[in-house]
Amino acid sequence: MLIVQKYGGTSVGSLERIENVAKRVAKTKKEGHGVVVVVSAMSGETNKLIDFAHHFSKNPSPREMDLLLSAGERVTSALLSIALLERGYDAIALTGRQAGIYTNSVHTSARIDKIDTKAINKHLQDGKIVVIAGFQGITKESEVSTLGRGGSDLSAVAIAGAIKADLCEIYTDVDGVYTTDPRIERRAKKIDKISYDEMLEFASMGAKVLQNRSVELAKKLNVNLVTRSSFNDNEGTLITKEDNIMEQPIVSGVALDKNQARITLRNIKDEPGIAAKIFSKLAQSNINVDMIIQNVGQDGTANIGFTIPENELEKAKSVLKELDASEDTEFDSNIAKVSIVGVGMKSHSGVASRAFSALANDNINIEMISTSEIKISMIVAEKYGELAVRILHEAYGLDDRHPA
Ligand code: ASP
Ligand code: MG
Repeated sequence: MLIVQKYGGTSVGSLERIENVAKRVAKTKKEGHGVVVVVSAMSGETNKLIDFAHHFSKNPSPREMDLLLSAGERVTSALLSIALLERGYDAIALTGRQAGIYTNSVHTSARIDKIDTKAINKHLQDGKIVVIAGFQGITKESEVSTLGRGGSDLSAVAIAGAIKADLCEIYTDVDGVYTTDPRIERRAKKIDKISYDEMLEFASMGAKVLQNRSVELAKKLNVNLVTRSSFNDNEGTLITKEDNIMEQPIVSGVALDKNQARITLRNIKDEPGIAAKIFSKLAQSNINVDMIIQNVGQDGTANIGFTIPENELEKAKSVLKELDASEDTEFDSNIAKVSIVGVGMKSHSGVASRAFSALANDNINIEMISTSEIKISMIVAEKYGELAVRILHEAYGLDDRHPA
């Protein structure tokens, strides 16, 4: 097989850990696979470089920042290659430029435009382990660029797509994707296989195993992604096409998002264009509106409730004040969004009602509901958020009977 392995900051966080990564990479090579390794900077390194720049300037030049920040990944790639060579493995470290990663010219948050795979393929053909500095590329103008924070996942997926790797393994300090946050429910189970779309829902709800952009890219390029830990030999979670998953559970997992706030506008004029006015103003200010409820109007007025990320609340307040749409506006950040996700929902009925009954049995009031093909989200009082997660986790049979 041709395998891309990406090691994140904690996995290469010290010299001992880089040595440990070298062992893993060597083992994969010895098993007969072609291996490309993409590395992050050692943990804390990128932040340190940013702090250095801020010592001299509040607003450092983005071009110089890219030159600076790309150094962190270069360091790890060279060190890993040196460690592999020392073990007797033929390895070569490449910068983004040397690996043929071409990006647009947006410094500090560039997008990958294309990958010229000539160099990578040549080294692979020569039997080398190719170690590539993640997070960076080169613009048409031959300037160094970086892909935005956390961008080395994206490098790995893009490279895996370009060289048509069989597998792209993303190594972090967690074992994979869980049916829910194990800190909330200790009976959470590691998921063996999950579809891209489910993973995107989990990631957007704050389950931070993988960056959303890299899952989207993996879906687009049809890259089989595995997230696993570099600290043990557990199998990890495969993120793949829905068709590759034979036994589809109805619900794959439960997620909690406490960083939500609700805004209720009461007694607004019930007339055409009012919602358009409110939500286009919010959109112009880059406020992400999630769930929306409008009740049936009475006496020519209506109420509209909607949710936004909690950290956008102040911005929303000033937008709404300026708009002067309602005299009676309520802001509530003591809410949480609980969501169940599963592609199996598409072919089953009664999935939502099971959630509603389970919460009702424990007297948890559902304040808002929204559904999509593979997700049901419910707003509950924040203090019941974690309890709601545990109730739903059990209701859909996700509990591990033998928790560690
Ligand atoms: N070193 C970069 C960062 O910390 C990129 C990465 O680790 O993915 O954001
Ligand atoms: Mg990362």
